[in-house]
Amino acid sequence: MEKVYDVIIIGAGPAGLAAGLYSGRAKMDTLILEKTKMGGQIVTTHEIENYPGSPLGDSGPDLIKRMVEQVEKFGVEVVKEQAVGFDFSDKIKIVKTAKEEYKTKAVILATGAVPRKLGVKGEALLTGKGVSYCATCDGAFFEGLDIYVIGGGDTAVEESLFLTKFANKVTIVHRRDELRAAKSIQEKAFANPKIDFIWDSEVKEITGDGLVERMVLKNKKTGEETEILADEEFGTFGVFVLVGYVPMTDSFKDHIKLDDRGYIDAVDDVYTNIEGVFVAGDVRAKKLRQVVTATSDGALSAIEAEKYVEIHKSFVNKKPKTTVEITTL
Ligand code: NAP
Repeated sequence: MEKVYDVIIIGAGPAGLAAGLYSGRAKMDTLILEKTKMGGQIVTTHEIENYPGSPLGDSGPDLIKRMVEQVEKFGVEVVKEQAVGFDFSDKIKIVKTAKEEYKTKAVILATGAVPRKLGVKGEALLTGKGVSYCATCDGAFFEGLDIYVIGGGDTAVEESLFLTKFANKVTIVHRRDELRAAKSIQEKAFANPKIDFIWDSEVKEITGDGLVERMVLKNKKTGEETEILADEEFGTFGVFVLVGYVPMTDSFKDHIKLDDRGYIDAVDDVYTNIEGVFVAGDVRAKKLRQVVTATSDGALSAIEAEKYVEIHKSFVNKKPKTTVEITTL
């Protein structure tokens, strides 16, 4: 007989792994599909200070390694395949990858978000040649160089602190005159002698012949343009674009209700507009995107998926309700 999972979780970041842990412990037949690296965006964070129980600040990869070990301990299957197609029209749902067509009673969407691009001239061409979206991955390549970090949120400021380990100097370029980052992180950055700030400014273009050599900034208040040039000794500098994230909803955006910013519009935090399809983590519209809220979402979505599977034991293939007015099970 063809295998039907109790739940398939799409994405192995903190939300998906927490969902897997709760599903596995509940003895649900669980599959996690991950298209690239386990852990999602948190694996690009060098130190997580605000996840309870880690007073010394785990690195993202260390935390994820333990989370993966924990789900596997409870018999959850973790497969590296990208979910590229979905059919949610029947009670038994279908998740397609390039290799397989998986069947499941419930789905948890935990696909997370990816770094936002600036969309300026030269950015795409010089990505990997001085333009980076990941301080943990690429910081060490910029030993002794000047680094410009674009953005003013937690990621930009926290990763600027990290980048001072390598850089000659780190300059945070922010489009407003005050940072969005948490006050505690801001204070560390203001106190760090290797960090400077350029306020009210946006990147206009990045240029270079093979490596980043020049960046043009525009002051939003005065309209004045400033040219930043690589110094003669090194001939290049780093540009870290850390300006937030874009939700990963492309593969299911035609089935699932999204809000006007493209995040999944969840009811009671976990229900999508399709019965039996749940959401967890950064891909849903929410107020706070942190590891701690992602794992909380994961736990809740797994518990609700378990109740759903239990209640609909027979799972005859009838059309599920497709309404946002889903009643809590
Ligand atoms: P974010 O909070 O959305 O901040 C994005 C920053 O980039 C903002 O300062 C924004 O400016 C700026 N920005 C956005 N688009 C821009 C553009 N096109 N050009 C120039 N600047 C642009 O994103 P984040 O810092 O990546 O954080 C994402 C979530 O993860 C947040 O909830 C954050 O709290 C969380 N996080 C937590 C931790 C931690 O707790 N340790 C670490 C990292 C991230 P404006 O301020 O003007 O909008």
